[in-house]
Amino acid sequence: MNLASAQQALKKYFGYDAFRPLQAEVIQRIYTGKDVILLMPTGGGKSVCYQIPAVTMEGTCVVVSPLISLMKDQVEALRANGIRAAFLNSSLTYQEQQHVENEFFHGRLDLLYTSPEKMASQEFMPLLRAAKVSLFAIDEAHCISAWGHDFRPEYRQLRFLKKTFPDVPVIAVTATADKLTRKDIATQLELTDHEMFIASFDRPNLKLEVRPGRKRMEQIFEFIDKHPNQPGIIYCLAKKTTETIAEKLRDSGINADCYHAGLDARQRSKVQEDFIQDRTTVICATIAFGMGIDKSNVRWIIHYNLPKNIESYYQEIGRAGRDGADADTLLFYSGGDLMTLRDFINQSDSQYREIHAAKLDRMYQYATSVICRRKILLNYFNETNQENCGNCDVCENPPRYFDGTVIAQKALSAVARLREQVGMGMLVDVLRGSRSYGVLSSGFDKIKTYGAGKDLRQEDWFFYLEQLINQGLLDIAYDDHGKVKLTEASKAILFDGQKVQLVQAEVLQKRKEAEEARASSKSRRQIERNRVRDELFEHLRQLRLDIARKKGVPPYIVFGDATLEEMAAEKPATEADLAKISGVGEAKLQEFGREFLDAIQDFLLEKKDQGVKIKGSTYLETFRLYQQGLSVEEMAAQREISPVTVISHLAYLYENGERIDLKPYVSKAEVERVAQMLTSLEEPYQLKDIFERLNEEVSYDKIRLAIAWYNRRKRKSYQQ
Ligand code: ADP
Ligand code: ZN
Repeated sequence: MNLASAQQALKKYFGYDAFRPLQAEVIQRIYTGKDVILLMPTGGGKSVCYQIPAVTMEGTCVVVSPLISLMKDQVEALRANGIRAAFLNSSLTYQEQQHVENEFFHGRLDLLYTSPEKMASQEFMPLLRAAKVSLFAIDEAHCISAWGHDFRPEYRQLRFLKKTFPDVPVIAVTATADKLTRKDIATQLELTDHEMFIASFDRPNLKLEVRPGRKRMEQIFEFIDKHPNQPGIIYCLAKKTTETIAEKLRDSGINADCYHAGLDARQRSKVQEDFIQDRTTVICATIAFGMGIDKSNVRWIIHYNLPKNIESYYQEIGRAGRDGADADTLLFYSGGDLMTLRDFINQSDSQYREIHAAKLDRMYQYATSVICRRKILLNYFNETNQENCGNCDVCENPPRYFDGTVIAQKALSAVARLREQVGMGMLVDVLRGSRSYGVLSSGFDKIKTYGAGKDLRQEDWFFYLEQLINQGLLDIAYDDHGKVKLTEASKAILFDGQKVQLVQAEVLQKRKEAEEARASSKSRRQIERNRVRDELFEHLRQLRLDIARKKGVPPYIVFGDATLEEMAAEKPATEADLAKISGVGEAKLQEFGREFLDAIQDFLLEKKDQGVKIKGSTYLETFRLYQQGLSVEEMAAQREISPVTVISHLAYLYENGERIDLKPYVSKAEVERVAQMLTSLEEPYQLKDIFERLNEEVSYDKIRLAIAWYNRRKRKSYQQ
């Protein structure tokens, strides 16, 4: 086995042109019969690392997976790509099991998914020995380690694999493993000669954004407005919040549902299924949602509340954009959330309380920091990264510092005059001179700093106060109702005139302005083109949904979002063009190709009727007239183009696999005469040169068509 055949299989079955980092190395190693441990983030492309060997090596790749609920979808996705896959687990009837076992025994499966229990069972052993196994793949391999966060004792039994089948390579894959767990995977599986591959945990297609958690609902509506019909998840801390938000969204016509521990198992699986099938667009969920769902086209994640640590946050945003297409994530943070989470920790009697508290602090620091977010995350996961990512809110809107001494003095002196007895909200009210009942009834309108900060907006004040807290100039007494307190360092500001640098608080405003400026600087044509692309994408998404419903499979099994996006941008006109799109393998081209091409064609022609000019549609238009049986001259007249151009369109269409009958335009003898000549020439062919070499006996039009014929035949024979 060599990499060239792996590459071909990647194109043929999955429609991808190139391997992602580490995939080729891992596959190469498996081909040499050796073991692999592979750590890669969710969506990084772990499965391909054993699926390609599975389809290229002789025998069956047996995949052990703890997630029985996922097996069906995984197998369906593989079958849609023309791969012979099946699963064996307790959900099958006796007959179904018999059938799968029979296929396995006779070597008619590329991949067989099964549970660890089944693997280790006595009755499965003889079959495992009798069939030809090319490779064992252990999915979610961290489950084998008691150090990991998801230990499953059944996994321990897998140690028999290496003993019983010393010559069959093993690949263990996981997305979550700290150093200890990693080592333990090798020990528990008794791998003696393995290589560990660790991919970067960076997910560059995820946009990272953090905002203060004020007027969250308003911001969520605005956010969803910008992501119409795109599947997304809103994570909340409390069950009640998920219900309220889902209801508010539904009230304004957004297809939303909620998911939390209070629902029974049946309700939960229904919510999940509806989401997978694109029947529900938005899920408001407590953190439990998303484990073990394999939906590649989640387009956005919002954290309504602060997550309890960076690991959870990263895992949760990681559920977006698994298909590699762009996805947006938005985190709201607030001091209130921080307090609630601190209370949880303090009330728990876990021996790890201090660790939990420290991790929570890191999370809050991340949220309030003003350096590139991805840098912080990658550094947290021990990948040193010094580059700014360019795809987070900080990078897009670098902080601007200014002398904030006066602002700090006002805030600190207000805290002093309020005797450190109020929380942030009241403090801001006093600074801004609010006439609220709370302020007036406490007589706070009488103190000296009342109204001293009128000139700043409420949200700006919160922004500055948070910075003062982060700089240690103020403190929040979490154990005393969140009252704002002075610190040792406060004195230097209040009494010694020490200067304070603050980050300018126009971030949100500026971001909006920047977006608008960017939009208007794009040319009108560009905007128009994007609009058409987006509309076409929507059109194709609808088609995908229809097909998926008819077939009873999740939509992403038909094509992923990234593939539809590329289709909408490229607007392929022929099957050959379509095959070039990433994610279009042979099986899907066969099964869905025509429908998608027709949909694109119809869409473009309709646009054309509306007077929108689109590249690529010109061939289609000629093709449509051709299909109506018009002559070259008639087509030229209708389209107001020259007959020569019509011929060149026909040649293009023919060369790219469309059904065009060349006979009326050029005879077989002429075609062969030109083809004969071409074998001795090099590309690019010069029409004039050929014309002269053939004694000017074959017209330019005919030469054009003959070249198309020649190229199409040449391409065919390459493919075989
Ligand atoms: P994981 O198992 O690591 O979560 P998957 O194997 O499911 O990731 O891959 C995630 C997505 O990326 C899938 O849609 C998969 O088809 C796609 N993918 C994998 N490898 C490639 C590649 N070389 N080129 C393009 N897309 C790929
Ligand atoms: Zn960044």
